[in-house]
Amino acid sequence: LTIFNVSCKENSEDSSIENKTNSIEKKVADLLSRMTLEEKIGQMNQYNGFWDVTGPQPLDGDAAKKYEHLRKGYVGSMLNVRGVKEVRAVQKIAVEETRLGIPLIIGFDVIHGYKTLSPIPLAEAASWDLEAIKRSAQVAAKESAAAGINWTFAPMVDISRDARWGRVMEGAGEDPYLGSEIAMARVHGFQGDDLSSPETIAACAKHWAGYGFSESGRDYNTVDVGTSTLNNIIFPPFRAAVKAGVRTFMNSFNELNGVPATGNAYLQRDILKDAWQFDGFVVSDWGSINEMIAHGYAKDKKEAAELSVIAGSDMDMESYAYVDELANLVREGKVKESLIDDAVKRILRVKFELGLFEDPYKYCDEIREKEVTGSKEIQDAVLDMAKKSIVLLKNENEILPLKTNGLNIALIGALAADKTSPLGSWRIAAEDSTAVSVLEGMQKYPDNKLTYSKGADLTIGKTEFAIELNINTEDKSGFPEAIETAKKADIVVMVLGEHGFQSGEARSRTDLGLPGVQQELLEAIYKVNKNIVLVLNNGRPLTITWADKHIPAIVEAWQLGTQSGNAIAQVLYGNYNPSGKLPMSFPRNVGQVPIYYNHKNTGRPVLPAPNEVFWSHYTDESNDPLYPFGHGLSYTTFAYTNLMVDKVSNDIFNVSVDIKNTGKVVGKEVMQLYIQDVFSSITRPVKELKGFQMVELKPNQQQTIKFNLSENDLGFFNNEGEFVLEPGEFKVYVGGSSKTVLESNFIIEKQSIK
Ligand code: BGC
Repeated sequence: LTIFNVSCKENSEDSSIENKTNSIEKKVADLLSRMTLEEKIGQMNQYNGFWDVTGPQPLDGDAAKKYEHLRKGYVGSMLNVRGVKEVRAVQKIAVEETRLGIPLIIGFDVIHGYKTLSPIPLAEAASWDLEAIKRSAQVAAKESAAAGINWTFAPMVDISRDARWGRVMEGAGEDPYLGSEIAMARVHGFQGDDLSSPETIAACAKHWAGYGFSESGRDYNTVDVGTSTLNNIIFPPFRAAVKAGVRTFMNSFNELNGVPATGNAYLQRDILKDAWQFDGFVVSDWGSINEMIAHGYAKDKKEAAELSVIAGSDMDMESYAYVDELANLVREGKVKESLIDDAVKRILRVKFELGLFEDPYKYCDEIREKEVTGSKEIQDAVLDMAKKSIVLLKNENEILPLKTNGLNIALIGALAADKTSPLGSWRIAAEDSTAVSVLEGMQKYPDNKLTYSKGADLTIGKTEFAIELNINTEDKSGFPEAIETAKKADIVVMVLGEHGFQSGEARSRTDLGLPGVQQELLEAIYKVNKNIVLVLNNGRPLTITWADKHIPAIVEAWQLGTQSGNAIAQVLYGNYNPSGKLPMSFPRNVGQVPIYYNHKNTGRPVLPAPNEVFWSHYTDESNDPLYPFGHGLSYTTFAYTNLMVDKVSNDIFNVSVDIKNTGKVVGKEVMQLYIQDVFSSITRPVKELKGFQMVELKPNQQQTIKFNLSENDLGFFNNEGEFVLEPGEFKVYVGGSSKTVLESNFIIEKQSIK
């Protein structure tokens, strides 16, 4: 029994980054030189957790095979092993029973928290608050690292314009600029400044690439996109993640223009590893190597393994393709051993950076696990994030914030008392019923009288991620009681929307309305009491066109995680003034999807009066979304004036604008700056977000805010893949949403190419 033990003491005196890197590279090379082919391939093999240390022994079937492989050193990583006890048990086998004692890297989907949950990522994106988002990732890293985990499969940085796709809940929305900023914040949050700290974990930018553009919004479906969309919309957040130092990538289930992402050398080698010089590793998505057979791209598992490794997929998640086939492929000369070496180097590099060789049990501290899990520090951070994620969509007659003067409030809707659904999808480690419900949150304001009436169930039977949800489409037996409660109330708060498991992976929808009998319930209550505050819980944009027309106040509260009900109550009562802005356009009608603000112009002009609509229009619906990207109100109002553009040099411009709080309370506004490249060698969007800033102002306070525009903001990727800045007229727009209020323009004189 040889334990591979590399002392890190030698580093402690000289810890400059360059020296650290050199020393890691040396250790990686040394270790690699001592590995057999099978041991190398073992590092490229990742298994799902199979061994419950407290469960029945001995193991049989697949579990027995995996156990055997683990003991032989044929497993480099495991996922879904959780809790210090379990992690320590598998790590002990890797470290003490295998010939070289190489520690495992333990992966987990820490998507929006571990046991304590932050809002779903789409909700967090609605905060536009990069510090809060970073902090949320930081506490998620801390809590999961304390449970033995050292690698998260997050952030998902897929841009999507299609609310039918269930995984929009997991991303940052439709915009590549906002998406890139958030990708960087999340990577920094998870990884911190020092990956070897036991409070940080390696991040993973996924799914490389194009997954958010699946046709018809149906998960895993075909993706067929052109060069411009790929370079200018899909790639930027991934590039930003690389810039932020992300240590791993995950490829995707979809094919991209005819080649499955897992077997796609253009994506994984040409772009990621060559052009972007990414030196971390790429893990396949779950079983995606084998899925290339069903795609009709590889004829069997062996060919799938060959194509994937040649294309640059370094680690096989649960396809058994590398562990079963790669050694033979190398012996037959079909796969060069240098490709295996490259993959293994990448994986070992990250393990060294995490400090796993220094102490393989550094993430296995029972005392820390106990202290950190659900700690006050984490609860405070997720509550802060939850409040910041809420978007006030509509507020007429100042119905919000609610007063505390003995009002009689009716609280209606199954989601109002639900303590599980607000946790949202991707909450593998969190237990059911651990969210604060809206009912519980509102009960903390005892000056008003609160009466709860469910009205109708949202789901029937069990709700689990793995099973199709049974939505209640018939039972309205609770309507009469809810109607009676509403009749007696001064104000009705209705909490409606989607169940937490209605969005997420494999949760595509063709109807974006309120599911089940909720729309009928809303209309029935409206008939007896029009003072309704509608609180939405959902994982994607919904088509709430009727509600927008009739209901005076609408609050988008997504799925806000563990502290959901507290955050919602604090916003409803005005203890927190909402400042969130939509990261995705809300359609009026599912027929408008995909709908996004940064679309192109058609060649068709606007029809003359009296029609004044675009030639390119629907005969039954407007072209505009119900709520545009960037939309979100506050309990105060803001006025924008005095937009000025100053030229600093050919490609640097300073933009300044005045903003004033014109309402009665202190408020925060996310000021947004958009540009338009009016004529170019390929057509460009009508507007593109290129800057945003959050300002907090007291009533009547005015401030001048400056933005800077430079080559990176003004250029774009042409169809040759070059980043170009073309001369000509540009427009600049500023406002509190993508429906901007001020406009100016400027000229760029000289062309430049990078
Ligand atoms: C998902 C990934 C996830 C993986 C592991 C897959 O089904 O697409 O995003 O990280 O499972 O749970």
